[in-house]
Amino acid sequence: MARPVIKVPVSGGICNFCQSTIDKGQMTRHLKSCKERKRAIEKEAATSSEPGVKMFHILVEGQYSPQYWMHLELPASEELDTLDAFLRAIWLECCGHLSAFRIGGTSYDSEPEELMFVVEGEEEVGEEGEDDEEQQELTGETIVDFGKLVDEDPVFQFKREHALGPQFPAEWLAEVRKPRSIDEFVAFAKDALKAIPKGALYSNKVPPEEAHLLYEQRSLLEWLLLQVEDRSLYVPLQRVLKVGQRFSHEYDFGSTTYLSLKVMAEREGHIQEEDDPVTILARNVPPIYLCRVCGKPATEVASNGYYDEEDGAYCKECAREKHIDTLPVVNSPRMGVCGYTGDAEWEGAEEWDGEEEDED
Ligand SMILES: [Zn+2]
Ligand SMILES: [Zn+2]
Ligand SMILES: [Zn+2]
Repeated sequence: MARPVIKVPVSGGICNFCQSTIDKGQMTRHLKSCKERKRAIEKEAATSSEPGVKMFHILVEGQYSPQYWMHLELPASEELDTLDAFLRAIWLECCGHLSAFRIGGTSYDSEPEELMFVVEGEEEVGEEGEDDEEQQELTGETIVDFGKLVDEDPVFQFKREHALGPQFPAEWLAEVRKPRSIDEFVAFAKDALKAIPKGALYSNKVPPEEAHLLYEQRSLLEWLLLQVEDRSLYVPLQRVLKVGQRFSHEYDFGSTTYLSLKVMAEREGHIQEEDDPVTILARNVPPIYLCRVCGKPATEVASNGYYDEEDGAYCKECAREKHIDTLPVVNSPRMGVCGYTGDAEWEGAEEWDGEEEDED
């Protein structure tokens, strides 16, 4: 029993509509059939004057501590940033670390690299000496001359000049070069990439020349995506997620807290104007930890205890007696990490309304 405390069985959770305690594995089914939730949804539709909007039901849990979990709902039109801000407020925030979502092989960062490319063929955004006012904000609707962008790909340019690499099929290249909106291109390129499974490039089933061509096609598409795709947190959920999709979130790239997420369902819902964008449908019951010395319920854990010899949970008295640096026990997968105290937790953070960061 060297590490008796930190491993905790996955707990049940409470449905926020009927207040029943339900096993983690049964909660998705319960939320589908919960009578109180049905009633709440009907009431919401009856009292709203706004048209319905698409809502995503998302399950989030600690990747390495699945005893912490929540079922959430929010409009699919909300940006990743809303979900990030919510997760920080309820589970993560200690000292403003960076964070990112990883969705289908693409990373959406709280501090993405600046997009550096040309819009409408005129100004080189981000180049020295350029007038800042010339910068044009890119949106999904921005029309881009992809032909020009292809010609600017240094790798592509080099290969063409030196007659290296396989020739792209003319029709394929014409399709890639077509001027179009960023949204259209991203959808096209992602489909095209999906059609080239990575494994195909290295399997014996594909002749080497064909594999080489596929590799070159993949590289060009990936390079173009890197130039135009918005990889900030200001991307609407519905642009990058769909029902059934799994994704992940990382907070703090040093002592990282990893979360796993999945879009469980969608529905047409009505948001009340005063509502927070994120609704908690259900949440785990806080796990109970016992003091490793005396066995009483613990209120503190050794800070960064997972890595230390003195790991584990303690009651106040035993922690004081042993002179251990501790952090409070909190209902969060970041318990005991960095300076996390849970002060920004949902219950204590009425000020969090999802709009706060826009103004003031
Ligand atoms: Zn219920
Ligand atoms: Zn920190
Ligand atoms: Zn104790």
